[in-house]
Amino acid sequence: MTTSFSSKLNKAVKQQYMDLPQGDKVQAMYIWIDSSGQGLRCKTRTLDSEPKTIDELPVWNCSFRNMNQTGGLSIEMYLIPKTMFRDPFRKDPNKLVLCEVLESNRKPAEGNHRRMCEKIMSMVKGQHPWFGMEQEYTLLAIDGHPFGWPSNSFPGPQGPYTCGVGADRAYGRDIVEAHYRACLYAGVMICGTNAEAMPAQWEFQVGPCEGITMGDQLWIARFILHRVCEDFGVVASFDPKPIPGNWNGAGCHTNFSTKIMREEGGLRYIEEAIERLSKRHHYHIRVYDPKGGLDNARRLTGHHSTSNINEFSAGVANRGASIRIPHAVGQEKRGYFEDRRPAANCDPYAVTEALMSSS
Ligand code: ADP
Ligand code: MN
Ligand code: MN
Ligand code: MN
Repeated sequence: MTTSFSSKLNKAVKQQYMDLPQGDKVQAMYIWIDSSGQGLRCKTRTLDSEPKTIDELPVWNCSFRNMNQTGGLSIEMYLIPKTMFRDPFRKDPNKLVLCEVLESNRKPAEGNHRRMCEKIMSMVKGQHPWFGMEQEYTLLAIDGHPFGWPSNSFPGPQGPYTCGVGADRAYGRDIVEAHYRACLYAGVMICGTNAEAMPAQWEFQVGPCEGITMGDQLWIARFILHRVCEDFGVVASFDPKPIPGNWNGAGCHTNFSTKIMREEGGLRYIEEAIERLSKRHHYHIRVYDPKGGLDNARRLTGHHSTSNINEFSAGVANRGASIRIPHAVGQEKRGYFEDRRPAANCDPYAVTEALMSSS
């Protein structure tokens, strides 16, 4: 099992320093999405006092080497603080600060889908859109091999691993437990976790979150996952199909409702929304992974609890459909629906914006 070198450093020695008082200073870790639209970056600055609101956090800048736009030249960007969380790694009063990135002309930088999402969400505020996202991921050793898999063969076939318990079924639960607690500490609206179909594959759910907060919460939950995995010396992959063949891929099912869908007789509005979504299938596929559908093409095969990428389908309690109406929602005739198409590496800002504007 190849775990990273730094994970093997003596953590008890580190703890001695982490226990030192920090005076009246506060550490704020600024976090942002890079131009790939998938990668997260971070850096820390010291503040003189604990910020009480997001407005108290200074705008920061950063220079990026952007190969796409400038052929390798460094360009200055602005980091604009958008949401603040308690820091579960350095603990109170330290903060995690999620930022959006603007270019020096104040336009959204490449990979910044938050700006547009926020615009749409503020326009539809009165509909009170709620989202819940199910983030699937795969734990890898640092050599890219799935965590806990035998080095020269495969684990037994899928079946016993979903929601499994026991050393032969649950690969890497320490990470899941640490991430869950760290999210609760931070104030992330994490609402559950489970082991997935493929060994070393897991899921956590965040929600329900209203409007723009869905994207903010999921991105911070992803950051916390990467950071926890760093401590354990393993890597969390959001690749939608990490292992080809007869192994489940990883998605980010997105559950959605508006106020009228949640009220009595709301099923009618759910069905109307699904009807509108059926007319924009290809548009949604383009938005649901960072490569315009190429990543999801490996996953949405029509097998392994997925629909076919080329076809739109919907049904009650149907896990092979693009859109599923949960069984209980069909019975109560109100609630929400689930879009099963987004890939694990989707941008939640882009997905929630598309869902909102299409339905
Ligand atoms: P599944 O049965 O598909 O595995 P999960 O239990 O993993 O479902 O996830 C359900 C998700 O639905 C959670 O993220 C939850 O927050 C979200 N959710 C529940 N109710 C609503 C609602 N009314 N509107 C939007 N999302 C909701
Ligand atoms: Mn789920
Ligand atoms: Mn799942
Ligand atoms: Mn689901």
